[in-house]
Amino acid sequence: MPRDSRYDVLFEPVKIGPLTTKNRFYQVPHCNGMGYRDVTALATMRGIKAEGGWGVVCTEQVEIHPSSEITPFIELRLWDDQDIPALARTSEAIHRHGALAGIELAYNGMNGSNFYTREVPMGPAHLPIATFFNDPVQARAMDKQDIADLRRWHRNAAIRARRAGYDIVYVYAAHAFCVLQHFLSRRTNDRSDEYGGSLVNRMRLLREVTEDTKEAVGDGGAVAVRISVDEMVGESGLQKEEIQEVISRMAELPDLWDLTLSGWDQDSRTSRFAEEGSQEPFIAGLKALTTKPVVGVGRFTSPDAMVRQIRKGLLDLIGAARPSIADPFLPKKIEEGRLEDIRECIGCNICVSGDFTQAPIRCTQNPTMGEEWRKGWHPERIAPKRSEAKVLVVGGGPAGLECARALGQRGYEVTLAEARGELGGRVTLESKLPRVAAWARVRDHRIQQLGKLANVGVYLDSAMTAGQILEFGAGHVVLAAGSNWRRDGVARFHLKPIPVDGAMPLFTPDDVMAGNLPGGHVAIYDDDHYYMGGLLAEKLVALGCAVTLITPASEVSNWTRNTMEQHFIQARLLELGVSIVTNRAVSEVRADCIVIACAFTGRTSELPADAIVMVTARLPNERLTRELTERRGDWAPAGVISVKAIGDALAPSTIAAAVYAGRRYAEEFDAPAIGDALPFRREVTGLAPL
Ligand code: ADP
Ligand code: SF4
Repeated sequence: MPRDSRYDVLFEPVKIGPLTTKNRFYQVPHCNGMGYRDVTALATMRGIKAEGGWGVVCTEQVEIHPSSEITPFIELRLWDDQDIPALARTSEAIHRHGALAGIELAYNGMNGSNFYTREVPMGPAHLPIATFFNDPVQARAMDKQDIADLRRWHRNAAIRARRAGYDIVYVYAAHAFCVLQHFLSRRTNDRSDEYGGSLVNRMRLLREVTEDTKEAVGDGGAVAVRISVDEMVGESGLQKEEIQEVISRMAELPDLWDLTLSGWDQDSRTSRFAEEGSQEPFIAGLKALTTKPVVGVGRFTSPDAMVRQIRKGLLDLIGAARPSIADPFLPKKIEEGRLEDIRECIGCNICVSGDFTQAPIRCTQNPTMGEEWRKGWHPERIAPKRSEAKVLVVGGGPAGLECARALGQRGYEVTLAEARGELGGRVTLESKLPRVAAWARVRDHRIQQLGKLANVGVYLDSAMTAGQILEFGAGHVVLAAGSNWRRDGVARFHLKPIPVDGAMPLFTPDDVMAGNLPGGHVAIYDDDHYYMGGLLAEKLVALGCAVTLITPASEVSNWTRNTMEQHFIQARLLELGVSIVTNRAVSEVRADCIVIACAFTGRTSELPADAIVMVTARLPNERLTRELTERRGDWAPAGVISVKAIGDALAPSTIAAAVYAGRRYAEEFDAPAIGDALPFRREVTGLAPL
């Protein structure tokens, strides 16, 4: 289908200094956990974004000097000429598909502890390092020589960036990650020299570095300034009035303004805490202060929302990190009038967790993300079938749906049998919990795609027994039957069941999601530590329960630190009146109370409760696997060649892991056996001479 003319505006070229981007789709810098370690994997991933139609594709943060690095996070480095070839690999991959390459030069200052280089970090003032881990390190206040050094380092990095093939060179003053923001904000700048005090003084370094970068980049390249319009800490930090003045005073100096919120957690809020386009009130009016193009983000997946940003004069370029991760081909799909094919970001921040865990980026919606080079996966393409094999997929949750979809895309004849009256498995159930409706996009996208595949048959209300599976007689059986939450207290704290008196009403998340609800004073025992405990607390409060959330961790939903949500969740639960009991494990469930034990001393106390919800471990739904294994002798007569459990039915994990498992089955199906060989490519560091 030709594209809808309403979206023509998104495909207009935009001038960025001496350059022109072919359209308004701009992949802003984003971290990915690959960086300097997985160079070719990273370059390939960026190249696929360019292939998908993004007019500009940027790197993540690039450390410009060894006196400021952010170990353990794995970003890019441009410390000297040795780093140029690795950086050039990415710019070349971007250029190959006709996009402009942007590079985000970063000097993190008081945001990096320098654990790798052991250099003393520097910033505007003597202040503790502001990392996520409370490192016992302080930054020292920079003197005039340090400032001169920093300016030279940035200039040299800009020159190297151009040699590495980058078109747009960033001056980064955003997300509280960068020394230029630390100078700009009175929160972190208490200097009394010409770099502190008034706003004009605080912005001096930003102006100087921007001027230096303009000069270093020369006539052929462009300079972007990335700035945070609000630090979200009230009057003690940067707010719009000051930023208006900064932009007004430097309006025409850079070739592009890139507007963000600060910190990263605020800019990349999950869908649970912010809607698409939620940055709008913060950026409104700023574009009018400059004639230079302005880019901003807002988890934009809807072309109508994008057009609105342009028409309302809020932005010139539609910035995206997560929407480009979930669907690297988003621009192409809009251009080709294939809106129904867009794989919309669900705003879960599993992608962010890659960076936080120093693991290659992954995405709930796009299982190929991070696997483009090491496994050769592509977000839109997959190898055609190698045989006429037929596959039965049992279970239509995220694992089964993606498995059936990807096998179907390959051309295999697939039957998907789902026990319930609707598809989606846990995604369907969980997306009905408070404020996570966007998660249903994982299901909806796949149902939409399955609808196009005549070779995939979907059967609802079809709970399969082992006998029926054998009778069906598909050559290959995929068991994607999911998992169930445990009732016995076993998870991380207790590895053996705890004593439970059957007189106390006891529920699991499965019960609550199925509508079997507790009432009165409900104790939630959360030894899972991801989102479920917090979501159930919200749900039960909304239903009128008095909720006490007990966790052996020192904070609620502890793992959501990796999705940058933990503080938002804890604040929301406190606002809702949930009573939070940390550092305590439930050690016994009695008829009329819960016994809780201190996680450190083991000292116990009693908590009266009307019911308990156990958010602990899950058990894979293994019944079919077991029964089919027991009946192995019946396989050959029934024509069954292989049976394999995937996703939560193999080992419960995230929705992202389930989608990945489904994709992996389909990618590797029918492939020659690789024995003990590595199932992916990797890049081994070349050895330097001794
Ligand atoms: P995953 O995350 O691994 O995809 P889910 O729990 O989300 O797992 O989905 C599993 C799906 O499998 C559920 O929708 C469930 O109803 C379905 N299911 C479980 N057992 C059977 C069965 N015997 N036959 C058909 N479908 C099943
Ligand atoms: Fe969006 Fe989640 Fe994918 Fe990140 S992991 S891009 S938030 S769907």
